[in-house]
Amino acid sequence: MSRRGLLGASAAGLAAAGLTAAVPAGAAPAARPSRFGRSAPPEPGKSGFRLRWLGNNGWEIRVERPGAAPATVLVDPWLTRFRTGTYSEQGADPKTPVTVDRAAIDRHRLRADQILVTHGHYDHMPDVPHLAARTGATVLGTESHANMMLALAGPGERRALEEQLSVVRGGEHIRFEGYSVRVLRSLHSMPGPRARVPFPGTRPGGPPPRPRTIADLVEGETLAYAVTSEATGFTLVNFGGSNFSAADLAGLAPDLAMIQPGGSTVHDYVPRLLSCLGHPPYVVPTHWDDFDEPLEEPAVDWGGLEGLREAVAEAAPHTRFVVVDHLETFTP
Ligand SMILES: [Zn+2]
Repeated sequence: MSRRGLLGASAAGLAAAGLTAAVPAGAAPAARPSRFGRSAPPEPGKSGFRLRWLGNNGWEIRVERPGAAPATVLVDPWLTRFRTGTYSEQGADPKTPVTVDRAAIDRHRLRADQILVTHGHYDHMPDVPHLAARTGATVLGTESHANMMLALAGPGERRALEEQLSVVRGGEHIRFEGYSVRVLRSLHSMPGPRARVPFPGTRPGGPPPRPRTIADLVEGETLAYAVTSEATGFTLVNFGGSNFSAADLAGLAPDLAMIQPGGSTVHDYVPRLLSCLGHPPYVVPTHWDDFDEPLEEPAVDWGGLEGLREAVAEAAPHTRFVVVDHLETFTP
């Protein structure tokens, strides 16, 4: 089967994401306790959220607010997609220069109230300084992410970015108008036989020299983020790496989890993660596309999507696995 062929499967998943039709009789999510006192998740379309996939772990999360304009929260928006060979036999070349294609970013006309950064790697963070300048958004990330973003910022972007950065550590629960953002300490995936975080390290104490290659963009610690609608109580959570800190998920019980394929060296990755999350009604896969391929075309699975689908089906048979394609939306 061609890699494009797999796309057919995801497109079908998306068509089914008009939803409910995808759920066989008797498989409706079981009623479960919730921190918000609900006995069951809201009907599809009633969550107060609209998700749009920007490729890799990039998401545009629109939050409906009764009596106010919708808010927009971006997660790891990376639209430049410079070629790295990450999913080739050889893997990413560490000498690959970091580039920011401002025209390509601007074509998407994104708005943002907040931009949430999960970690510092090249496929998550380098477009954020320009998007921050364009949108005026508040940018959340660790001290290391903040320092690297200041070092990446172009002329004219840096001073504003200093004002827009909100340095977080994990544990924060921040209230914005109509919704809240919870910052969760998390962990990066640890691929390979030695289970090593790629480009590890931190950048404390101030901006480093301008990052020139992808190896200069170190992990800088990893965060996950949960967003809760005040109007509906619906909570979604996004993981920027295929790993997690179990203790930091206690009591979260989200309605929707955006999780990644991979995690091969993480003990019992998918079953343990879904158990920690209380088997959420929805799982939306993220970070499953080969980002050497264009965002304007259907996503090309790098090879992890079907394995994740099977692992979720086995660990959480009542969970709806909703595949969203490039630039498509899903309204849970
Ligand atoms: Zn990474």
